[in-house]
Amino acid sequence: MLRLDGRVALVTGCGSSGPGWGNGKAIAALLARQGAAVYGVDIDLGAAAATREVIEQEGNSIHISVCDVTDAAQVEALLTDCEDRFGRLDILVNNVGRSEPGTPATMDETVWREQLDLNLTSAFSTTRRALPIMVRQGGGAIVNISSVAGMRWVGKDQVGYAAAKAGLVQFTKATAVAYARYNIRLNCVVPGLMLTPLVQRLADRYAGGDYEGMVARRHAQVPMGQMGDAWDVAHATLFLASDEARYITGTELVVDGGLTASTGQP
Ligand code: NAD
Repeated sequence: MLRLDGRVALVTGCGSSGPGWGNGKAIAALLARQGAAVYGVDIDLGAAAATREVIEQEGNSIHISVCDVTDAAQVEALLTDCEDRFGRLDILVNNVGRSEPGTPATMDETVWREQLDLNLTSAFSTTRRALPIMVRQGGGAIVNISSVAGMRWVGKDQVGYAAAKAGLVQFTKATAVAYARYNIRLNCVVPGLMLTPLVQRLADRYAGGDYEGMVARRHAQVPMGQMGDAWDVAHATLFLASDEARYITGTELVVDGGLTASTGQP
């Protein structure tokens, strides 16, 4: 079950914004454990190297390189290198994403555009270049990491992120229909409130650095009483990337402890 032997998987944002397990890091490690040849990219070489270190400690391997996925030329070079190096691409995980605070009245237009570039257009660029490879091979799986912020207001003003993550879901569905006949499946994992190293950054950006307070508030928001973690996102990603999900395309797997099913009332 869920083995990926002989598969080549490209994971964007394979590093982590702090010590511990971010979503991209856990996804890269899990796909490697399941037998995939993983190509991990990150804008931060040190973050990618930290992921490589833990994967090698587990006795698996990963090839890493630096790529800013908001730069179409770098993405083009990345996919060319992936094809040259591995000869194929079976799984693409678009994991890069990050939120900036603001409403339309308080957010600079530059920040708005950066949020769309980082959280949505980056997936367009990688997918654009990956699809012809997968068509030639006769199939593939693309998993895009969205967010419950693209479905609901989840406690903070982040309109650029919310709009981009909602757009990512519909980008995934529309492309899935267009490529279903080529045996290329596209789906989203939609994480809720996860306890990853990113939460420290969120506390700095949204709560004046009050990490403990932010963690407590996030736990309390979730019907299951606690945040999930990066492994919950990684396991959902593995499933959607695997042959066990061979008839699943154009949908999203929400991983949120019941958050979006709830009205938020106690
Ligand atoms: P993270 O910040 O720990 O890791 C993301 C990695 O992406 C970092 O190593 C960073 O250097 C890299 N990166 C940033 N910009 C890049 C760029 N332009 N090009 C290439 N790499 C870049 O975050 P994470 O925990 O791995 O989360 C990843 C995804 O999960 C994001 O899409 C995020 O929106 C989503 N998500 C997270 C949570 C949560 O609570 N942690 C909740 C919902 C959704």
